[in-house]
Amino acid sequence: MIPASFEYVRATSLSEVIGLLQKDPDNTKLVAGGHTLIPTLKLRLASPALLIDIGGIGELKGIEIGDRIRIGALTKHAELLASKELHDMLPIFHQAADIIADPQVRNRGTIGGSLANADPAADWPAVIIALKAELEIAGPSGSRRIGATDFFVDIFTTALEIDEVLVAIHIPRPDAGTQFRYRKIRHPASGYAVVGVAVGASMKDGVVSNVTIGITGAAGHAFAADAATDYLIGKSLGRETIERAARLASEQAPCLSDHYASAEYRQHLIRTEVARALASLVGAT
Ligand SMILES: Cc1cc2nc3c(=O)[nH]c(=O)nc-3n(C[C@H](O)[C@H](O)[C@H](O)COP(=O)(O)OP(=O)(O)OC[C@H]3O[C@@H](n4cnc5c(N)ncnc54)[C@H](O)[C@@H]3O)c2cc1C
Repeated sequence: MIPASFEYVRATSLSEVIGLLQKDPDNTKLVAGGHTLIPTLKLRLASPALLIDIGGIGELKGIEIGDRIRIGALTKHAELLASKELHDMLPIFHQAADIIADPQVRNRGTIGGSLANADPAADWPAVIIALKAELEIAGPSGSRRIGATDFFVDIFTTALEIDEVLVAIHIPRPDAGTQFRYRKIRHPASGYAVVGVAVGASMKDGVVSNVTIGITGAAGHAFAADAATDYLIGKSLGRETIERAARLASEQAPCLSDHYASAEYRQHLIRTEVARALASLVGAT
């Protein structure tokens, strides 16, 4: 379990990283928290010639809360868990970070590393989809932004090009009174999501005025449960409405099957977790 040899550079700026990446992007890897990449190197599933450590780059750090919310890609799960300001505005960060892995992983793993890695069972993809976030990406031709739903393309595949860096996550400020829920069925060994459901919703005069649902763990990549959310707008959250929305969410994407959970079981878990999250918005759990 010893990696193939590689050159190591600890970069000090984003422009340095982009310059280094351009030289030989196919044989270069970025390392943030290293909690996925280092085991991958040790198993020789990847053998880059150059490893660029981005951990010291200030432009990729920090949580800023203003008209919009900006979370640097290097922000660790533990920082997202600890931020009181973020908790007051978007409690879903606390809800999700609290059930990611264990303290050791939370103290090293970064939100940017998790999103760039696009493990279909990672928690943050569902959360940023439910928050209608945009991802800021930097590359040789400058900076661009992409919506969260378009960022996730397939299992371990995103819209990032090999010479690009994920810089930050931008989130619109939620309307006053928006409620958030994150629920997951954890894999008992790793803590990863067998199914994870993130919901953001506002109610006006007893009916749903705005709602987003992000789902992870179930399919090849996280997705927005659009059919369910379109159906929910303008409805009160009674039992039948909740059940119909949960069913629509479970039917939106083909589910994965593996030795731990069949596709049918994952589909069932989407139904139960979406239903529980929606019911809890009206105190019906
Ligand atoms: C035992 C264990 C349990 C875990 N449980 C969970 C869990 O319950 N839920 C969960 O969501 N996650 C879980 N994880 C994953 C963990 O939380 C990290 O998010 C994950 O390892 C990736 O983050 P990292 O910072 O360590 O990235 P790294 O390992 O450093 O990098 C991962 C990949 O992303 C690329 N990358 C990193 N940063 C950037 C960037 N800014 N721009 C472009 N590319 C980049 C790297 O090149 C690499 O390919 C677990 C991990 C372990 C080891």
